Order: sequence, then structure tokens, then C-alpha cells
Amino acid sequence: MTNVSIQNLTLRYPKAAADTVADLSLTIPTGSLTALLGPSGCGKTTTMKIIAGLLAPNAGDVTFDGASILQTPPERRGAVMVFQNHLLFPTLSVAENVGFGLKMRHVPRPEIARRVAEMLALVQLPDMGTRRPGDLSGGQQQRVALARALIVRPRVLLLDEPLSNLDAHLRTEMRDLIRSLQQRLAITTLFVTHDQEEAVALADQVALMLNGRLRQHDTPQAFYQRPKDQTVACFFGGVNFVPGVVSGRSFASALPPLHLPQGLPQGPGTLTIRPESIRLGPGENTLQAQVTDRVFRGTQTRLHLCVGNLPLCADLPPDQTTSIIPGSDLTIHLPPAALWIMP
Ligand code: ATP
Repeated sequence: MTNVSIQNLTLRYPKAAADTVADLSLTIPTGSLTALLGPSGCGKTTTMKIIAGLLAPNAGDVTFDGASILQTPPERRGAVMVFQNHLLFPTLSVAENVGFGLKMRHVPRPEIARRVAEMLALVQLPDMGTRRPGDLSGGQQQRVALARALIVRPRVLLLDEPLSNLDAHLRTEMRDLIRSLQQRLAITTLFVTHDQEEAVALADQVALMLNGRLRQHDTPQAFYQRPKDQTVACFFGGVNFVPGVVSGRSFASALPPLHLPQGLPQGPGTLTIRPESIRLGPGENTLQAQVTDRVFRGTQTRLHLCVGNLPLCADLPPDQTTSIIPGSDLTIHLPPAALWIMP
């Protein structure tokens, strides 16, 4: 059980024009899973490599349980990293791959055999020990990589896009397996991903990184309901943004006056509401909208609306939208509790 803290971490690659990781501070509480989320190239892998000891930062510190680990060689930090391409040893059997870390630590053979069997059962690959990695599917190889990392009982587990080579079905299955293993073993975990859906499905906390900087560090729910700014909101599929002014619990904008929940910042701001929070029919904050388009998206239908000149999007259960066609008028309402103001 290890608390990981990153403080003012900065790294610039030689000859690079800007910092790849810029003044990044982040805490991963003991036994929890944090998703480090961000678009390709924002510095996620670089951050992880610094924690693992594969790169040294230009400034800042990384501590495990309050003690700096920057001077500790990678193999003695107790952090293991699992990469996207799982890098199994092709000539070793699955069992030998999984037991490799223990063999390097001179653990007696019977104990290695016992722990390998235990690990293979845990990743749901019992009976696969004698196979070669090449005889396994991509998902199975990823499980072996996970077992190989976990068998050494690391203090910190670092997962770098471990699911990105898997198809959609396997991804979900592996995601659930990682989550249940992480919780069962209560191992402090950092999970790098560019997929916001994956991040929120897995993590206790999400750290959104853009251009080397931490943009918001919060619970998954907060990114949907209380995004820090419009860029964060957009990253999480936010589409409705209305500039205006907050005065008390009222919002003045191109829309008719809206009633806000208590405690939102006063003055100029941008109002946002999740498309799935817009409701059909009258209620508090009723608006008359015109339907400009309707897009079936499987579990939801997206309605493109116009209120006056202002575009809004609403996601509704498909069975509520069968009679709504482009060109028709629609009464909607914006429940105050779903409204949020950003600077
Ligand atoms: P991805 O999801 O694509 O792996 P990432 O967020 O993990 O992206 P990093 O791999 O940390 O991003 O890379 C961040 C930036 O640093 C990129 O622009 C990359 O090209 C650059 N970079 C990575 N490694 C090096 C290196 N060894 N030397 C110079 N630049 C590098």
C-alpha cells in the first residue's frame, strides 16, 4: 500500500522547444486507481516513465509514502510498468514469463511455481502455463503481461495504454479484470489512456493532462457535471455552451432567463448542460426549440436543436424520439440541478 505523490514535475527532451511535462503535481492515494488521461503526445507516457525510473526529470520530485524515489534505481523502486505492446519473451513459456521476476529475485522454485499458478488463476488463464506467448490471443497475452507484473507484488502498478491493441469486446473484458484485480490487491495504480470512456469506467480519480499540464484532477463524475473549463468539457463530450452573466440564481443570455442552482460563480460565465440532461416537455427552465436534425446513436438519439439562434444538443432514449422529426417544434426544459457555470 503506497501513496504516490508527484510534485512540480518538469521534463524537457533534449532539443525540444517546450517542456513535455510542465510543472505537474498529482497525488495517487494509497490503493486507488488514477487514470492519466489526455490526447496523444500530451506527455502521459513520459510522466509514467519518470515514475518508473526510465527517465529523470529536469525539476520536481516523485515520492512513494513521502520518500523521494528519484535517486532509487528503477529496479528497486517497486514500480512495475506494463506497456501497450506487452513485450513477453517469445521463447519462454507462459509460466516462465510470469515467473521471470521471481527468478531474477532468486525466489525458490517451488514458491515460484505456486505463485505462478496463483497468478494465472487470478488472470483467468489456469492451464495455459506451458504454452508459448505466440500461441495466445492478444487478450491472453495482455493477461500474461499483467500477471508477470503483479507477481512481484509491486508497490505501484503503471499501466501504459494496456488495452489499446484489443478489440472493443476484449477491451471491456480486460478493463473489468484490471479493475477487479486492482481492487482485490489494493495496489496503487496509474493507468494511462487517451480514451475518456475507459478512464471513467476504471478509475477512482481521473487526471486530465493537456500539453504537458494537468488540467483537472477529479472524480469521473465531476468531469461530466463540473468541468473546470470549456476545453475539459469538450474532451468529455460536452457540446452545449451558452455565454452570459450570472446574477444571484439567474442566468441572462441569448436564451430566456434561466434559474440556476445555488452557489455558482457570479458575473460573466459560460453555461453548460450535458446533452443527456436536457428533458422533453415543460418543467423548470422551459424552452421552445426547433429540431434541426436527429441522429440515431444506438442507445441514444441525438437531437440537434435551435433555441432562437442558439444551437443545443439533447441526447434522449430512442423510444422518446420516434415522432420527433427535423423541422418540428419541441418543448424542452433544462433542470436547474444539471446547469453548471464555467469561467
Ligand atoms: P501517446 O498516447 O501517443 O503515447 P503520450 O501522451 O504518452 O502520447 P509521450 O509519449 O509522453 O506522450 O510524448 C510526449 C511528447 O514528447 C511527444 O510529442 C513525443 O513526440 C515527445 N517525445 C517522446 N519521447 C521523446 C524522446 N525520447 N525525445 C524527444 N521527444 C520525445
